[in-house]
Amino acid sequence: MIASVILKLTETCNLDCTYCYMFNSEDKTYTRVPKFMPLETGLKALDRIADYLGEHPERRIRLVLHGGEPSLWPEASMTPFLAAAGALRRETKRLGIGLQTNLYDYDAALLKRIAAAGGSIGVSLDGPAAYNDRRRVTKGGGGSYARVAENLKRLESDGLLPFFGGVLSVADPDIPPADYLAWIKTLPKKRVSVLWPIHYNYDAPPNRDYGAWYAELFRLWAEADDPSIDIRIFRDAIKRMLGSSHHGDGVGGERLNSVIVNSDGQYERHDYLRYFADGAVRTDFNVREHGLETAAQDPVIRRCADLRETLPPECVACGHYEVCGGGFVANRLGGEGVDFSRKSVMCGDHQRFFDTVRSYLG
Ligand code: SF4
Repeated sequence: MIASVILKLTETCNLDCTYCYMFNSEDKTYTRVPKFMPLETGLKALDRIADYLGEHPERRIRLVLHGGEPSLWPEASMTPFLAAAGALRRETKRLGIGLQTNLYDYDAALLKRIAAAGGSIGVSLDGPAAYNDRRRVTKGGGGSYARVAENLKRLESDGLLPFFGGVLSVADPDIPPADYLAWIKTLPKKRVSVLWPIHYNYDAPPNRDYGAWYAELFRLWAEADDPSIDIRIFRDAIKRMLGSSHHGDGVGGERLNSVIVNSDGQYERHDYLRYFADGAVRTDFNVREHGLETAAQDPVIRRCADLRETLPPECVACGHYEVCGGGFVANRLGGEGVDFSRKSVMCGDHQRFFDTVRSYLG
């Protein structure tokens, strides 16, 4: 089953974040594909989604406009594409649309078109300015925070806040958790996803205590008891511990139902593989010749549909199995070939975090 389709509208960016998996990881696909997806490739991807929704009337698809920086896609492509995506959304009522942007440049007309198409706007930002600006830097090495923070305010003044889906952050143990929580309170909408780092695997194990960081952030958040602060991984973990089958990439760990379409039309596996090896994301299928069902037959995409199939006995016997399920996919890789059969190299961090959440649920 495919739940999300991620379109690489651009293979270029206006920032140069140190940890960027598109341009600063093992994967160098960006050097071999067009900088901008041709409009006809984007429209073909929409046709493939329409076919898939038609074949599966019970399913929904989330379409993520991604890059690189997707707002750099030429307006001559973006405008007709969004008109077509919005029409498909209205027609099927089973298509979600999201733009994931760094918001370093503010294009009010584009953001309004996203809203008119029924889409949401997610913004990447990594905590308070001093910490964000160590990692999320411009091509010249300068910080990006001040400009993005101004642009977040403009979302509010332009009436776009209802379409702002929240901030996407990568966990950073350098940030004191109290400072991170205080920073969330400054956002126009206090909704944050805090991702496990994707650059650690068995070839590059973590050298920081992420578990303690998540645990302390959770403790502070729980004790603040402020329902306006929504930290997705905490919400997902609590739901899961209370028996929900709800699944998020950082919690649950049983499946990864995404397909990427790169700017050259090639179907790719999840971005989480880009730190593992150059070209590890590529499949033999492309959107011009193949539908989503065919892309889902790629051996790695198929394995991602049931990640629990090959987990080690220690995960199956683990008290956190239902919540963790072997851990975050990117952290299970390493060695030869794409192999998800090991537990996460961050198992200790996962355990520390989940132990803390459980201790609050009693
Ligand atoms: S906490 Fe560790 S042992 Fe338990 S399920 Fe997660 S990765 Fe496996």
